Amino acid sequence: SLKTGIVGLPNVGKSTLFNALVENSRAQAANFPFCTIEPNFGTVPVLDGRLDVLARISGTKNIVPTAVEIVDIAGLVEGASEGQGLGNKFLANIRECDAIIHVVRCFDDDNIVHVNGSVDPKRDAAIINSELALSDMSQIQKRIDKVRKSKGKVHIDGQTAETEIEILSNILTQLEDGKQVRQLKLNEDELFVIKELNLLTAKPCIYAANLPEGDLPTNGATNVHFQALSKLATDSEAGLCAVSAQVAAELKDLTQEERDDFLSCIGVESDGTKELIEVAYRQLNLLTYFTTGEKETRAWTIKRGFTAPQAAAVIHTDFEKGFIKAETVHYDDFVTSGGFAGAKEKGVWQLEGKDYVVQEGDVIVFKVNA
Ligand code: GDP
Repeated sequence: SLKTGIVGLPNVGKSTLFNALVENSRAQAANFPFCTIEPNFGTVPVLDGRLDVLARISGTKNIVPTAVEIVDIAGLVEGASEGQGLGNKFLANIRECDAIIHVVRCFDDDNIVHVNGSVDPKRDAAIINSELALSDMSQIQKRIDKVRKSKGKVHIDGQTAETEIEILSNILTQLEDGKQVRQLKLNEDELFVIKELNLLTAKPCIYAANLPEGDLPTNGATNVHFQALSKLATDSEAGLCAVSAQVAAELKDLTQEERDDFLSCIGVESDGTKELIEVAYRQLNLLTYFTTGEKETRAWTIKRGFTAPQAAAVIHTDFEKGFIKAETVHYDDFVTSGGFAGAKEKGVWQLEGKDYVVQEGDVIVFKVNA
């Protein structure tokens, strides 16, 4: 499943956020099946209101949400790319992630030491981003050296060594200019050349602005640090989400009713963590389809553009080969017509073949040769 790494300077609230994300979501999804929890690693369900609606229509109580994996990568500090503070190990952990949640401190609190003496999101984010960029530069330089040394023998299929070096040098220059690879409008050849390098600044990134409780009701509009971070996010093609790690942590041991009371007391509906997971999920360019019946209602994650057999393979690898057809109804139609039977009567039910590209919100029954 998909892996998201939490990074940020020390003392910005990473661990607080990580623990709250993992524990709160566990409490809210009681029969969540994949609950592996280790100190720095956990699985978080993507809560989706559509599941409850589908389950009600199908008459099942068994809801299985889709999930993302979260890793708390605590050791990424200034100098990490030079191997300080086990830096290389942490950078390697980030390399394995599909997306990055970058926590930035937007709360003032004299009791919590700030590693650089003051709260300044732009500077703080830049410190982490420059470690990521330095690591990318060194990866690219290593690759250039290797291709050059091999006198053209080592290079990617379909590219000459010269083209590869030219493409890599060009990206290197832009990184040196302070750009992140995510911001570059790369063409297909360029994307192909860097694919294997797994560059850190090419990954989808979501800034989590850790706000003081008082700025949650305005979603950060009342917080100058948040404003600065918002500009940074827009300029660097990154996502942004307002959260309060502290509020999330305080909700940890409460019942659903107590939670709702607590949140309404401070004038909000959420501590922002649910939204954070949603934003992360969206940045990954994925989509959700559903299966639903008396036994269970379940959400499945696929990449945009997957055909019906590819989507079926997510349920069981054998389903791809054995694929015959897919009965599909869009979620909205399913709901308004009260299920498969009603959808068939209304003519909003489709029988699709192996070339069908699955759409966001499809409710599907696969017919397979098992
Ligand atoms: P990490 O080093 O980034 O993992 O930060 P921690 O999650 O360990 O938090 C560092 C300290 O900041 C702890 O004492 C937390 O209780 C505190 N902290 C975390 N989030 C908030 C917040 O939103 N507001 C305030 N005032 N303190 C926070």
